[in-house]
Amino acid sequence: MKAILFHQHGGPEVLKYTDAPEPMLRTGDVLVRVKACALNHLDLWVRRGLPNVPIPLPHIPGSDVAGEIAKIGADVTTIRVGQRVVLAPLVSCGKCPACLAGLDNHCRQATNLGYLVDGGCAEFVRAPEVNCLPYPENLNWEEAAAIPLVFQTAWHMLITRAELQPGEDILILGAGSGVGSAAIQIAKFFGARVITVAGSDEKLAKAKELGADQVINYKTQKIRDEVRRITNKRGVDIVFEHVGSVTWEDSLASLAPTGRLVTCGATTGYDAKVDLRFLFSRQLSLLGSYMGTKSELHAVLKLVATGKLKPIVDHVFPLAEAATAHAYLESSSQFGKVVLSV
Ligand SMILES: [Zn+2]
Repeated sequence: MKAILFHQHGGPEVLKYTDAPEPMLRTGDVLVRVKACALNHLDLWVRRGLPNVPIPLPHIPGSDVAGEIAKIGADVTTIRVGQRVVLAPLVSCGKCPACLAGLDNHCRQATNLGYLVDGGCAEFVRAPEVNCLPYPENLNWEEAAAIPLVFQTAWHMLITRAELQPGEDILILGAGSGVGSAAIQIAKFFGARVITVAGSDEKLAKAKELGADQVINYKTQKIRDEVRRITNKRGVDIVFEHVGSVTWEDSLASLAPTGRLVTCGATTGYDAKVDLRFLFSRQLSLLGSYMGTKSELHAVLKLVATGKLKPIVDHVFPLAEAATAHAYLESSSQFGKVVLSV
């Protein structure tokens, strides 16, 4: 099969469009003929290499897959050949106490497609049967591939970790990112007032189309000052963080008393300071969040299928141009998802 493969870590140029062996099918797995694979920042980290994370080389990246079932293993009972599916990116053991409780993102053996196992930047990918999710028939392949990782992450952050309530004020950073554009829609669906941040007026206009109530251009405005102005000096109930070092101080300073900051990433760096006096006297909560559960993704897909939530595709590249697509994602000029068409 054709695949995007890298033999060593580095810049986008290490990604090669080449021949690779078709994945071996195990009894509980399905083989998916990939139609589209969306990119995530995780793909950039995996390609560059992470300290203490031994990514098997050569490696096929890609976590977000939509496609058609090509083959099924002998023990597969709920999926048939030819069926269209969206794949849940998180591959967990299915046997540990966390998995049995439905908390597969707490599984100690969990990884993502395209992280410690080969992913979907290829004509075929192997996945466990339980990772097959119902295909939203109102979407094309590229749109379907743009859903799983970012919507599952945003849902887990807002609903499960931060326990967002109707009427609350929320500051969402990175409106143009995949996870940001998902968070705006989820927060609006649950009745929050959304203040969002981006670096261009064009992106902010698109954020408003998605439902954002107030927008801040961080290149011309100071985030914490604008939040104070918009909220009458109170601050927001929730800050949705994934940017990291560059925005951390503004994020903390934007919280109302008893506010919650929830974070799933650190795109700009992971060094952050917390003034403990501020933390305890204002009774703030700092919440970490990682991926989401398959059952949360089932909930997301129901809302996608009825048009309540929609994936935002910025640009589609052919699989062979994965290196160009990575460079484009690294430039942060997109609004929504960058997707490879296979
Ligand atoms: Zn497990």
